[in-house]
Amino acid sequence: MSTRSSTAPIPPGATIGILGGGQLGRMSALAAAELGYRVHIFAPDARSPAALVAAAETIAPYDDRQALAAFAAAVDVVTLEFENVPADSAEFLAGLVHVRPGAAVLGVCQDRAAEKTFAAKHQIATARFAVIDAPGDLDTAAQVGFPAILKTRRDGYDGKGQISVADAADLATAWAALDHRPAILEAKVAFRRELSVIAARNTQGDTAVFPLAENHHTDGILSRSLAPAEASSAIHDRAAEIGRTLAEALDISGLLAVELFETPGGDLLMNEMAPRPHNSGHWTQDACRTSQFEQHIRAVCGLPLGSVAATGRAVMDNLIGGAVNDWAAILADPEARLHLYDKGDARPGRKMGHVTRVSPF
Ligand code: AMP
Repeated sequence: MSTRSSTAPIPPGATIGILGGGQLGRMSALAAAELGYRVHIFAPDARSPAALVAAAETIAPYDDRQALAAFAAAVDVVTLEFENVPADSAEFLAGLVHVRPGAAVLGVCQDRAAEKTFAAKHQIATARFAVIDAPGDLDTAAQVGFPAILKTRRDGYDGKGQISVADAADLATAWAALDHRPAILEAKVAFRRELSVIAARNTQGDTAVFPLAENHHTDGILSRSLAPAEASSAIHDRAAEIGRTLAEALDISGLLAVELFETPGGDLLMNEMAPRPHNSGHWTQDACRTSQFEQHIRAVCGLPLGSVAATGRAVMDNLIGGAVNDWAAILADPEARLHLYDKGDARPGRKMGHVTRVSPF
């Protein structure tokens, strides 16, 4: 058990453990290295994009207690780039080393019903929703109205584990298609657009919220973010308030990304939240004083948070699947900043990299 107090800074030179080996871990590891830290990646797969740029790696399943204990002994703090690690693994690690964010935050953010209930408790609106855990819940759930979207409570991402439901007659079939897994039925929102905000909170409780991003999706996957979003000051202020309120209410140390729907009436509804860096924050690498990845490292190490001031207007495009093959043309564009994840096989739907273009204000 560490004797360090939970708010004391973890100084450069220390080793940061990251659960998860994807591109978010890779870019966090690069940012950590810039600040003089070493990173140790814990991930189930060999040659993960994050481990390829890290000082050390453990390749083991997230529930391998022996591997988790050895990992805890080798690092000064544990954070994550993937929130679906088993909550009891996070709790096990927390008995050995600082884990930021902790298991309680994961408990909320891993479950769509829990996160929406949490938001409502803090006066943050969401789409109408109902829980479907058992066949007897179907009739009551239908009262949310149609069209609706059926989503698994856990493990969904990039539109996976979701089915549109046109009317009550289709609901039982849709739930069967999700293998009767615990789910929520959510009223479809006729939103004007999708926005997101990323809040950072360090171990001392200081917060900083990045400027708002406007997000566009293709086939359920983020394709483009525009930031700072063009929006009224009322919307900017409300989005920042939502990010800060949720980060504080969760008592998080780290980043909290909050996806929002802007309604035609100008209200903001929370769609979902993620306690880690987020794809819609990649623009901060090239158009913000501090990138979300550096802020992540600052927050979990208890350092002063960096400035979140935007330095220009950014357009961030994801390179999905074969789009990555355009890398040479992108490099030839002096306005483009290319970021590749070294994932190898450019399968359809796979996030392979991103490109950000920045114009002056
Ligand atoms: P999610 O996995 O919940 O972020 O959903 C993926 C995408 O599906 C969102 O970014 C939206 O484009 C769309 N979506 C999810 N929930 C709703 C909803 N209640 N109403 C309308 N569109 C939705």
